[in-house]
Amino acid sequence: MSDAAVLIDVAFPLPLKNTFKYKAPGDMSGSAVFGKRVIAPLGKKLLTGFIVGVSQPTDPNFASTCNYEIKEVVSIPEDPPFFTEQLWRFISWAADYYFVPVGTALKSLLPPGATKKSKRWVFLAQNVGSDTCEQRQETDSLPSVLLKKGRMLEKDLISRIGESALKDCIKRGLLTTQDYLEIPRTMDQRGRSKKPIRTLSKQNGSYDPALWPELTPCQVAATNTISAAIESGGFQPFLLYGVTGSGKTEVYIRAIAKTLEKDKDVLVLVPEIALTPQTVRVFLDRFEGGVALFHSGLTPAQRLQEWRRIKERQVRIAVAARSGIFLPIDSLGLIIVDEEHDPSYKQEDGFPYNARDLALVRGMLDAACVILGSATPSFETFENARRGKITRIDLPERYHAGQMPRVEIVDLKDSKRIGDRKGFLTPLLLSHIQETLDRREQALLFLNRRGFDTFVQCKSCGFIFRCPNCDISLTHHKSKQQLRCHLCGYSQFAPPLCPKCASAAMSFHGIGTQKVEEELKKLFPTSRIERLDRDAAHNQEDLVAILERFRNHEIDILTGTQMIVKGHDFARISLVGVLYGDASLHFPDFRAAERTFQVLTQVSGRAGRDRRLSSVLFQTFDTEHPVIRYAARQAYEEFFEYECEVRRELAYPPFGHLILIRLEGNSETKVEQAAIRLGSVGRMLKAPLGGLTILGPAPSPRKKAGGKYRWQVLLKGTTRENLRRLVQQLRDAGHLNQPGVKVTIDVDPIEMM
Ligand SMILES: [Zn+2]
Ligand SMILES: [Zn+2]
Repeated sequence: MSDAAVLIDVAFPLPLKNTFKYKAPGDMSGSAVFGKRVIAPLGKKLLTGFIVGVSQPTDPNFASTCNYEIKEVVSIPEDPPFFTEQLWRFISWAADYYFVPVGTALKSLLPPGATKKSKRWVFLAQNVGSDTCEQRQETDSLPSVLLKKGRMLEKDLISRIGESALKDCIKRGLLTTQDYLEIPRTMDQRGRSKKPIRTLSKQNGSYDPALWPELTPCQVAATNTISAAIESGGFQPFLLYGVTGSGKTEVYIRAIAKTLEKDKDVLVLVPEIALTPQTVRVFLDRFEGGVALFHSGLTPAQRLQEWRRIKERQVRIAVAARSGIFLPIDSLGLIIVDEEHDPSYKQEDGFPYNARDLALVRGMLDAACVILGSATPSFETFENARRGKITRIDLPERYHAGQMPRVEIVDLKDSKRIGDRKGFLTPLLLSHIQETLDRREQALLFLNRRGFDTFVQCKSCGFIFRCPNCDISLTHHKSKQQLRCHLCGYSQFAPPLCPKCASAAMSFHGIGTQKVEEELKKLFPTSRIERLDRDAAHNQEDLVAILERFRNHEIDILTGTQMIVKGHDFARISLVGVLYGDASLHFPDFRAAERTFQVLTQVSGRAGRDRRLSSVLFQTFDTEHPVIRYAARQAYEEFFEYECEVRRELAYPPFGHLILIRLEGNSETKVEQAAIRLGSVGRMLKAPLGGLTILGPAPSPRKKAGGKYRWQVLLKGTTRENLRRLVQQLRDAGHLNQPGVKVTIDVDPIEMM
């Protein structure tokens, strides 16, 4: 090892754009390893940073000019590196792509407590412990707890045998030392869940592949294609497109087994992991080595433990929520993104990334296979498959001949009950519920509304006001009697009568799942009825408990919002009622139709998994609406063709690219003025670039979220390059730093409000 000083680049997990150069003096140069922690002075403080570059004195850039004085690091703690160069390249790419400081992105690579002080442990050397006579003599002086467990805290050992004896043992090669992070107890108490799902245990299923269920011919074909890709190695992306209940999981399992066989590791991303314990159980049941679980329901200590098990390859399979895309899996061979269309893969605050998109980037950098699985793929993924960038594999039939449910479309306009207290409980739906209860089976009633509805709909004919420029529904601003587009700012007077049928019965707010539940309890007093929405389930434990009761048939009728459609498998459901199918069609979002199709397809997929003859009812004001019609037949591709017409015409993704700039602050005038300024500067800058449109500025429909006023400017580009260039120019000219206004850049936005 050289005694000369080395030059290192250090990144700090703080919102800083740059990395900083430091000198590591000769006695530390041996410890200067990529990914390790350093304690270094930054400004007037001593901070924990991470080594992201090491140059030797012989490197030509060693003495290169630097516009600041290069300081020395204070120390390099002896714990193992936190990340590889590979992972650092990945995070740097993501930081650049999403316009966040690299220090902010770095934080997502680190386990909890990464900037805390670590403790030094003493370990028995590998070869010690075999019971040869001379060794027994040598280790006689060591405490039995160390011999038994193989490790103990250094300070405890020193208090037992003294410092010089310890040094002697290290010199003789009996013991080694290593620093390890530990989560202080106080930090752990802030953890949310007391009963994390990692206490799950194996239930059934075999570790022996010979005993796994036999595959259908389609599953065999899919497995063969993917196995060949894993065998040959390298980055290969797949879309596993299979109708609900087609058995995608069995294909995942074969792909995982193949990857492990090649001595590579696996990352499985699932949406809302804490809500879907049965998804995780499948993997536990099949793989003897176990799985690491990584999600927001874990306490910091549990997160650290899982992070370390993965980093040290104690487990070879990680099942994780979106943040798992940053896990330190150093020999990654396969990434699976289950339900790839799910919006929960998008992180909205802080570092707004999309884990589904990053999975493809990481797969490319790590030369791994990537499987995106869905019955209703996102348009971005499906279009990528059509253009040949992703290999599409179909699973067209339902697993084990499960029947597709019959879907009936029910016209809400016919119902005399609309507008009265009974809300969406139509006579046809009520008679279906009665039949289901008589057969001692279960019903799931789904209301796809959010807590706030901003659109205006005619109760008599179903008419909706839409923006003539953006084709999204207009937002109702009650105080000003105005209808406004929150993308382009178009506004019009809100008329008291329906422009189509002249009815005065416009809009009906306030019918939610709670009212539906109350009404059901009156109508079916002896049945067990519960509700699942953000109000009924305050935390994940409540949620899991309600779902568990439903699974055990302790509930006859469950009503709820989108939470009830997430991949839950309930065998005894024979009736699924969609109370107001077009509600989500009118969210002010260009993806409203795509989301509605996805959610209707997913919710009807809940029915009939048990091969019972089951019914699905779609209640709607617009029985002829193509989205409702296609969803009733689960005709994804026809729907895709239909919806792409609009997307293409207005250059929405996947035929154009979007970056949303959000502005928020305490002063309404400041935010509005900043948004207007940004809009006009943007219009000036965009002209020479070409292919760009600026929509807005306009107030966000959820104008006053969390006491803050919110405005937004939407940038649309036919090419990604010019769109990015525009944002870079805005940023470099300082237009994104506005006093008293917080500006966030959302690349490829999902949430448009
Ligand atoms: Zn009308
Ligand atoms: Zn508009």
